[in-house]
Formats: sequence, structure tokens, C-alpha cells
Amino acid sequence: MAAPDLLAQLRSVVGDDYVIAHPEDLLVYEYDGSVDRSMPRAVVLPASTDEASQVIALAYQAGVPVVGRGSGTGLSGGAITPPDGLQVAFPRMARILKIDTLNRTALVEPGVINLDLDNYARKFGLRYAPDPSSQRACSLGGNVAENAGGPHCLAYGTTTNHVIGMEVILEDGAIVNLGALARETVGYDLRGAFVGSEGTFGIATKILVRLLPLPESVRTFLGIFADIDSACTAVSAIIGHGIIPAALEMIDALSIRAVQNVTDAGYPNDAGAVLLIELEGLHEEVDELSAEVEAALWDTGAADVRIAEADAERERLWVGRKTAFGAFGAIAPNYYLVDGVVPRTRLTHMLRKVSEVSHRYGITIANVFHAGDGNLHPCMLFDAREPGVMDNAMAAAAELMAECAALGGTLSGEHGIGLEKKEFMPLVYTDDDMAAMQKVRNAFAPDNRLNPGKIFPDGSYYHPAPHPARHTAGLYA
Ligand SMILES: Cc1cc2nc3c(=O)[nH]c(=O)nc-3n(C[C@H](O)[C@H](O)[C@H](O)COP(=O)(O)OP(=O)(O)OC[C@H]3O[C@@H](n4cnc5c(N)ncnc54)[C@H](O)[C@@H]3O)c2cc1C
Repeated sequence: MAAPDLLAQLRSVVGDDYVIAHPEDLLVYEYDGSVDRSMPRAVVLPASTDEASQVIALAYQAGVPVVGRGSGTGLSGGAITPPDGLQVAFPRMARILKIDTLNRTALVEPGVINLDLDNYARKFGLRYAPDPSSQRACSLGGNVAENAGGPHCLAYGTTTNHVIGMEVILEDGAIVNLGALARETVGYDLRGAFVGSEGTFGIATKILVRLLPLPESVRTFLGIFADIDSACTAVSAIIGHGIIPAALEMIDALSIRAVQNVTDAGYPNDAGAVLLIELEGLHEEVDELSAEVEAALWDTGAADVRIAEADAERERLWVGRKTAFGAFGAIAPNYYLVDGVVPRTRLTHMLRKVSEVSHRYGITIANVFHAGDGNLHPCMLFDAREPGVMDNAMAAAAELMAECAALGGTLSGEHGIGLEKKEFMPLVYTDDDMAAMQKVRNAFAPDNRLNPGKIFPDGSYYHPAPHPARHTAGLYA
């Protein structure tokens, strides 16, 4: 960055207080929820689309890469910025601009927090369905970039199914609309291409999302199992009955004990695994499906089945699920949360592999995940101060990724590729596949100034520990 000149120009656009360039102030912007670290040259906090566009245009003219930042909860290093780069963050663009109750839509700025939108929509009898476990903190801009999922995405689909249109700034500062800011759209589905592009296509400055009516009836089941294998069988049995619950989550024994240690979520301490299953719909429909779910749980060897209908009771069960990752802090000071997908029918096999890897590498691994989608989250727990432990965790994660790919699954269900998994892309894509993707990126950002160094394998990384690819010689053969 041609430092003083560009910083002065940026300050003239957003005001002195909103350009952060002192190293101590930049410390909180050097990381996200992943393992990579890199301090940006500066962080800019625009207050409007116009300011954001001017900021991005100035960076473009100066040849400086730009990385968007939401709340920094990303788990694949997406918001990590190259040392010469500019981060553009959106705490000043965090307004819900409009709720249209008739058309059931909300127009929001990118900094709006996921749960704040959902809570606000509920005042109108509506809700925003995608509910990442990080929903108390993560932003809609980050959700769009990562195509975020969540427990209730099993029935309702991930973020891409709920975004209607966006206002986006391209790498040179041009402002374009993708999809529709009203209902219908024609031509190429650039909206669909943008969602999940991890900040490499453009920076979203307005997002129009679909809201859903609140369900008439909600019922939550806790299926309690002696071991994880029978819980996996129950998952297949429920889906095999043709039932798509609103949510179908699994919590293993280690996670149950971690959660119960910090809050009584109502999970039995001695269970081998629990399934959290939620049904939603009309009263009659929920009654009918409840009988089928209950039967499937008992048939597959549940030790007990508990049913929660009252809001407080359901809330208690969900608090356990959604605070599990925080609860792991009592087991180890650091975690590395892996995201991988396998066909649902291969869950048992994959969880055995996780257990085998855990023993072989000597790393404690807890499992809390979206079982209905086959989306695993092995969570490695360790103390990063121990020499070599980080390398070990990365190598173990590399093996798990390779296994997901070998089983016909993929590298991420919702956290994206970012820096973390780019070297693994050849496990699931050919060179031609990736070249086709690069052409799409080039169409949006021909000079590759937005979030460069992400998604595509190039050997670069920002973590002090060796990149997992170093441990995976032979995996790509
Ligand atoms: C405990 C925990 C649980 C989690 N559970 C889930 C889960 O259930 N489901 C799930 O999907 N994820 C989950 N995540 C991951 C994370 O919360 C999501 O990826 C989330 O969407 C990131 O949002 P953010 O605002 O924090 O984005 P950031 O981390 O700030 O950024 C993520 C990416 O978005 C880009 N970006 C940010 N804003 C914009 C913008 N306005 N325009 C363009 N690009 C932008 C960034 O450049 C980066 O590439 C979890 C994370 C944690 C820590």
C-alpha cells in the first residue's frame, strides 16, 4: 500500500475515526475463527454504499487488495487479509432497512447480525430461517459470502435459498445489482453465483432476503442413544421414512458432558450420543410426523425419547447445541473445527474414522454436527502452546478431508474453503473444474483484487504451523 497517500485519501472519504491503521488497533482484525493470522495494513469502516464504493475504488487505483469483513467468525480464514491489504468492515452499515410483511422480505445492510434480523422479523410473525450456530455474532454479509447453513437448513435450505438479490461493489468500485431487489429476475443468475463466492467476486452492501411465516406448531425430540452407531442408524431411518425434519442434529458423548458441565441442557451425562430433532408445520402434520419419528427412534435402539413442546423446554435443548463449542473451552484452550460432508449413509463409517484418527494422533475430538445433512464437524481440542500440536491437528484434519472426499462427500458443508482448505480442492475438482471456476471469478474480478489467495490452491498460507498440504504428500495422487 502506498501508505500515507492512500490512508489520507481513505480518511477524506470516511472520516479520520474510521480508518484504523495503528498496529495495536489492528490486532483484532488479524484473525477470524480459524487458525490463520495476518495483520491488514489498514481497516476502513464505511457508513454507506457510496463511501464503500469510493474506498474500494481508491484501493483499486493504488493496486491494493481488498477483503470484506463481517463479524470475523468465519472458520476457513476467509476474512484474513494479506499484509499489504485493506480490510473493509461493516459495523456502521448494520441497519435493517425495510421489512415488507406482505411480500415477506427484509432489506438489510451487510453488518446486520443474523439473530438480530430473525428476532426483529418475529415481531411481525416472520423469521429468517438460516440459523448458523454462530448466529448471535455472525453478519448477513459473511453469511452471504460463505453461503452459511445451520441446524434449520435441513428443511429450508442454506443462505442461497433465502437471498433474493444484492447490491454489490466490484473490485474497481462499480456498484451493481445482482438478482432482484424486487421479486422477479431474468438473465444469468449472478445472484446464485455470488452467494458462496467468499468475498472474491464483490462486496455486498445491501441484501434482500426472504422471510418465512412462523410455523403453527413446533415439536423437539431428544433421542438418547447408548452409542454413536445406533444414533447414526436412527438418522438414516428417519430420512428413510421420507421425513425431512426442520433440524436433525447429533451431539456425541464428549460434547454432552462438556455442555452439561456448563449448563443443564437436559442431556443425560451417561448417553453415548443424542439426536436433537425438530418438526415444524401445521398441528395435524406435526402430530402425524411425531408418531413416525418416535417409532423410528425406538426401532433403532433409543434408550429414551424425550419430547419438548413448551418454548422454554425447547429453548433449553437448543441452548446446549448452540453453546457446545464454547463449552469445549473447559476441556482445552484451543479448538480447530473441521467441516466436511459425507453421504448420510456413510456417517457411521466416517465417525469411526474420526475416532481412529483421534486415537492415532493423540488428539481429543468432539463431534457436534448437522447429521441430517451428513455435515460433520469434528472439533479438535488441544493446547496450541504444546510444541508440534498444531501440526498434528492440521495433519489429522487433512486425513479427515481426504476420507470425506473418498466417500463421495466434499470439503465443506458451510464454512467455505478460504485459506484453510484451498490446497485440498484437487481432492474434489479436476484442473479443468477449477479453471472453469477461475474464469467465473475473472468475469467478476479480472484483476483478482478481492480476497486474493483464497479458494484456489497456490501454496500460500498465513499460519506459523506448516500448512496441512505439507502432511498430505500422496493424497492428491
Ligand atoms: C462457534 C461457531 C459456530 C459456527 N457455526 C456455523 C454454522 O452452524 N453454520 C455456518 O454456516 N457457519 C458457522 N460458523 C462459521 C461462521 O460463523 C460463518 O461462516 C459466518 O457466515 C461468517 O460470518 P461473519 O460475519 O463472521 O463473516 P467473516 O468471518 O467476517 O467473513 C467471512 C467471509 O465473508 C466475506 N465477507 C464478509 N462480509 C462481506 C460482504 N459484505 N461482502 C462480501 N464478502 C464479505 C469475508 O471476506 C470472508 O471471506 C460458525 C462459527 C463459529 C465460531
